[in-house]
Amino acid sequence: MTVPVIGVLALQGDVREHVAALTGVGAQARPVRRPEELDAVDGLVIPGGESTTISKLTDIFELREPIDKRIAAGLPVYGSCAGMIMLAAEVLDGRPDQRGFAGIEMTVRRNAFGRQVDSFEAPVALAGVDGGPFHAVFIRAPWVERVGAGVDVLGEVTDGPAAGRIVAVRQGNLVATSFHPELTGDLRLHRYFVDLVRAA
Ligand code: GLN
Repeated sequence: MTVPVIGVLALQGDVREHVAALTGVGAQARPVRRPEELDAVDGLVIPGGESTTISKLTDIFELREPIDKRIAAGLPVYGSCAGMIMLAAEVLDGRPDQRGFAGIEMTVRRNAFGRQVDSFEAPVALAGVDGGPFHAVFIRAPWVERVGAGVDVLGEVTDGPAAGRIVAVRQGNLVATSFHPELTGDLRLHRYFVDLVRAA
């Protein structure tokens, strides 16, 4: 695989920014809305947006079972913010009818950072990514409250009221961050994901 094909789940959210970031690191990026489009990708990004809406549209577009199946078969997936929520085995403060994929053994709390820090920016260093901490942008973001034994913590908030909160994880081929690297022009996380897709 010289140029990996990476889909961006294009039901709702900041699809365009992820397509641009993936293209910027040499992947062939395309939106995914239909099962046939999913079949053609080597990896998938689930963007930030609104997890309850993404959950609902996943059913309407009949992507639930195809995505669950591809994940079970080892498809690399990166979820940012709402995408992290969609990859969590358990969601706190979600809507009762929202459902994620068969994803990472973790519990996330939706809109976790609370009103005072609804949206904020903080430096976050990620294990396995060189070049210093990310300038992480959080927008009504979740945090990770519990991780299972198979989950690696990649990054935590180090300063301020949210210090110590886990905001980046990986389990096998699944990666999730609470923040939005696609909004800052820092392509290192997309490069990390594309490398993972190449290796998978
Ligand atoms: N609060 C949103 C949700 O629950 C996530 C916000 C985001 O993706 N920027 O899905």
